Amino acid sequence: MLNQTQILREGEDLWVWKDEKHKFTVKSTYLKLKTLIIGENSNMFNMLWSIKVAPLSQYFAWRAILNKIATKENLSRRGLQLAETSCVLCGLEEENTTHLFLTCRIANMVWNFCNKWVGISSVQHNQLNMHFQQFSLMALNSKENKIWKGLWISIIWNIWNHRNKIVFKQGKVDPEEIFTLIHLNAWAWMKYKVPHVHFSYNDWNLYPIECIKSIT
Ligand SMILES: [Zn+2]
Repeated sequence: MLNQTQILREGEDLWVWKDEKHKFTVKSTYLKLKTLIIGENSNMFNMLWSIKVAPLSQYFAWRAILNKIATKENLSRRGLQLAETSCVLCGLEEENTTHLFLTCRIANMVWNFCNKWVGISSVQHNQLNMHFQQFSLMALNSKENKIWKGLWISIIWNIWNHRNKIVFKQGKVDPEEIFTLIHLNAWAWMKYKVPHVHFSYNDWNLYPIECIKSIT
């Protein structure tokens, strides 16, 4: 990003941005990165950061949308020599962010469990950022859908954790286990982060939409 040095006749040399005359500082770097990385997606990220979930999962979802997580594809792109790059969940295709969370047949089973749970069917977008933005329910208003999007973070987070359990702890692929943890996490996050959550885990399992409507 730093393009060139400016040679002055007197005084110290300065780092400057290619398209600006401003001096390089940590703050300017931050602002520049924020514009470059987040740019037009700022509304989406503002939404993401305003959802009340565990901070680590929120940070992970942010990195996943930016494709900055350590998938096999990203690791090989960074020059790491991997014995194989196939998806650890299905073993059929290369593991990249889109495949792992959206197009993998195991991930699909997880999304379908969720759809069945709330009684909907949906066509999913195959880009993670669009998928996140479109993850909403007709039955909910915008405030309620913001709470609902916490489930999306839980889904991404738990698919990734399950993947890591297989890679690092010889776990077995089990989409039902992923789904169980997804709605358990989502409920626990609401319980401790969102004010006025009084429903039980059992209610959440049985009547997810009514539960969310009872909060606001
Ligand atoms: Zn797969």
